[in-house]
Amino acid sequence: MLFSELAGYFEKLEAISSRLEMIDILAELFRKVKKEEISKTIYVMQGVLAPPFANLKLGVADKIIEDAIALSVNVPKHEIEKVYKKLGDLGLTARQLLEGKSKITPIGARDRSVIEIYDTMTKISSLSGKGSKDMKIRLLSNLISASSPQEAKFIVRYALGKLRLGFGDYTILEALSLASTNERKFRQELERAYNICSDLGYIGEILYSNGEEGIKHMKVTLFKPIRPALAERVATFHQIIDKMGGNFAVEQKYDGFRCQIHKKGDEIKIYSRNLDETTSMFPDIAEEVRKNIKEKEIIFEGEAIAFNEDTGEFLPFQETIQRKRVYGIQEKIKQVPLHLFAFDLLYLNGESYLNKEYSKRRETLEHVLKGVNLISPANRILTGSEKELERFFDESIENGLEGIVAKSLASHYIAGARKFTWIKMKRSYRGELSDTIDLAIIGYYIGKGSRTEFGLGGLLCAVYNKKRDMYETVSKIGTGFSEAEMAELKKELDQIKSNSKPIRVDAIIKPDIWIEPKYIIKVRADEITKSPTHTCGMQNGIGYALRFPRLISDGSVIRKDKSAEDATTTDEIINMFKQQKLSSIKDN
Ligand code: ATP
Repeated sequence: MLFSELAGYFEKLEAISSRLEMIDILAELFRKVKKEEISKTIYVMQGVLAPPFANLKLGVADKIIEDAIALSVNVPKHEIEKVYKKLGDLGLTARQLLEGKSKITPIGARDRSVIEIYDTMTKISSLSGKGSKDMKIRLLSNLISASSPQEAKFIVRYALGKLRLGFGDYTILEALSLASTNERKFRQELERAYNICSDLGYIGEILYSNGEEGIKHMKVTLFKPIRPALAERVATFHQIIDKMGGNFAVEQKYDGFRCQIHKKGDEIKIYSRNLDETTSMFPDIAEEVRKNIKEKEIIFEGEAIAFNEDTGEFLPFQETIQRKRVYGIQEKIKQVPLHLFAFDLLYLNGESYLNKEYSKRRETLEHVLKGVNLISPANRILTGSEKELERFFDESIENGLEGIVAKSLASHYIAGARKFTWIKMKRSYRGELSDTIDLAIIGYYIGKGSRTEFGLGGLLCAVYNKKRDMYETVSKIGTGFSEAEMAELKKELDQIKSNSKPIRVDAIIKPDIWIEPKYIIKVRADEITKSPTHTCGMQNGIGYALRFPRLISDGSVIRKDKSAEDATTTDEIINMFKQQKLSSIKDN
């Protein structure tokens, strides 16, 4: 496929506000893409070079793009800056300048394919060191000068890492389903396959090469992280007993970094909850796996937490987070030693463990970890009694932990989903919801009164409705920020401003400035109430909202370990609302 054709589709997609129509257009596009092109086309559509775990990031600096545009349209740089200032978008700047100027077309310029554009971007992102800046400018300017204004707009946005066409992973999966089977329901199979490889390009490739059967038989692959299983929440111990029925396991809940560890011989890679590769943060844990885990191939999960091996004390998250750094890791290993509490086994020597029962996974995990020092199985009890459950919870809190996770003994590992096979319970405060809520920022209000100078007075936030692949508003938030945090946040948000309501946002209320859903904040609230103004779970004009919401900042306002689709979901809010009703009935 030619890039000009893809750019034409992008332009169409930008103008559409209905998700169903968007899926139809994407499916039409997918039907035209060839087998050899599908993975790269999907990455371009996502605005990336590879899935997040591949650590292959786009993101050419503004200044380099400005130079490249200047060179390709033969206009001085200050002119470019002027237009950029007016339009606020370098993609639009390139388009306008190409429309207005006669460009210097390089000899041999011709239509380029999507693959050529992708390959050039990959080359650009791989350049570093002396002379790389000039080389980047030259490569980009060659691309721009051989482009139509419309192509240039999207090439520039792609290079910046800001393509933002407004559709999420599940929209792409649904469109792939429609394109390949003429029906939407194959999305479920595609989703299952996606949950065990986390790579949409790869899904496209398998679908186009091996068809539906290829997707149905897709296997766990080393160094392609599995999307993590997540825990549901309930309000009372009694509800845990109810949901689990019979005996179950209760593990301590550690508040550290989730690590999914892949080992093949001596090669070790670690992935975060968000599926970024984080191996370089944990050289001590990687070395321990290399040296002391004897199995040839393994994928297992655990939580790394700052831990005093001498006293058995768990340290607070503020200590653990010090590992999140690029330099000085070796020093930190000494100052803040971590311990990994392993809680699941996903794969062992060629065999997937996802569809084995929890009891079997745990038993094998314990066996594998014999003789390993820095890693041990999560502490747990097996019980069916409410009293014991409560005692174990209190003990965990007393030891400085976050709470517990109850796990059903017969359950499989359900990748990429939040199910009642895992139920978490955290310390609850009177008059507060027992759990914090993760919200996606979708807009902000310009500061007034004492907040004028920060330019930001509050946020409009949303939960994620997975079924609709839409963000639904649930709260405005104006408390919990320091002044410095507000100023900092405004800077970050201004980079992803949107001129109109982002396509996947469903809102009745309007903020002063719309923001593309990208960042997550952590919020605490007193309760959930019904609301006629928020669209979260809205039915017959009534949705849900948070009462007395306030931001929780653990050193940083934005939770960088999560992406917008990790926001608390609409279903979770509705469940929390129901639970709160239940527990207030009990209290009375
Ligand atoms: P939270 O903000 O509570 O960590 P989350 O959205 O990141 O929530 P949840 O599913 O709500 O994820 O809680 C599970 C998280 O708890 C896991 O992602 C994992 O990092 C951590 N965790 C700590 N101990 C355990 C354990 N024993 N079993 C499973 N997960 C655990």
